[in-house]
Amino acid sequence: MAAVFLVTLYEYSPTFYISVISLCFVVTAAMVLGWFGFDVPVILRSTDETESTLPTPEKKMVQVTNPFALELGSGPSSVNEGVAVRPRCLEPCVLSCFWGCGVNALQGALQAHQNGPRLRNPRLFQEALHFQYHHCQTFHIDSDDTEERHTQMPAELGVQDFGLLPRERYPLVAVLTLAKPEAREAYNIVSSVTVVHTPDKSYGLSTRTLFQYLLTAQGNMYELKPLFMSGEGSGPSTGPPDPNQKVQPQATTQAAVASTDSEPSPVDDEEDKEEEEEWREGKGRDCVVCQNGTINRVLLPCRHACVCDACVSRFQHCPICRAFVMESFALSQEPTGTQTD
Ligand SMILES: [Zn+2]
Ligand SMILES: [Zn+2]
Repeated sequence: MAAVFLVTLYEYSPTFYISVISLCFVVTAAMVLGWFGFDVPVILRSTDETESTLPTPEKKMVQVTNPFALELGSGPSSVNEGVAVRPRCLEPCVLSCFWGCGVNALQGALQAHQNGPRLRNPRLFQEALHFQYHHCQTFHIDSDDTEERHTQMPAELGVQDFGLLPRERYPLVAVLTLAKPEAREAYNIVSSVTVVHTPDKSYGLSTRTLFQYLLTAQGNMYELKPLFMSGEGSGPSTGPPDPNQKVQPQATTQAAVASTDSEPSPVDDEEDKEEEEEWREGKGRDCVVCQNGTINRVLLPCRHACVCDACVSRFQHCPICRAFVMESFALSQEPTGTQTD
């Protein structure tokens, strides 16, 4: 049958016949070579070979001590009633609350920090904002003082709301700076900026932290972001209801773009402290994959902290949200298991 076909083909066009035979030979040779492990294009290789998974690149982290922490306090909060905030600082600090701070003014001030003099005290901040705010209230905070501070705009200003979206002013910008000049030499981070939303007549979204930045003595700026922990414990809640509530206890103490250090944030709650210690001793939570190793890896960009050092290299997708994992970093550099590098 095949022979008849080939003879017919040869009689029809000898050149075409030779081309077909040569092509068949080349394909066969390539397949044979492929089986023997020679490097041939992947298209010709047998398909049962599994794709090799590349290890997730590790993000290099720098450990820095952040002397500032600011949380939203309890109780009702709105533009009229004011907002309660709870600072927790390692050093005596000044808390400056800028109500109705201009969005562009704040962006300008943060840029000025990078280019000009560092915004290390409230006066420099006010100047950098070009006084583009409705009201400024300052508090002096001692290092062991974790009491809530209530900040409010004076009623005589008559500010009821900050207008419709998109807005030109943030309701509240809370800035923490170190009070003592000598303390400023000891820390790389010179101030912390927290942008807070609080409801008013025209926009009723509940009170929440919108952004949190840390400014360094070198003129850099880091945004603090919460980590998403896979643990079930919800911890003590002090703030208003929040979709990310269950990650809050660690989020405030562990998350930092530039830092994985939980040291700087002092904790006031016994429960909090216990949790933190458990965490550091590595018996707090187990890896969601092997259920055995201690969670020590944060996957980026989704920020899920859910796997141990050993399991991190086995995934290209986050086991929680299926997002592609671009990088990961370790929460603690202490050897917790098999990882050696
Ligand atoms: Zn694991
Ligand atoms: Zn994820």
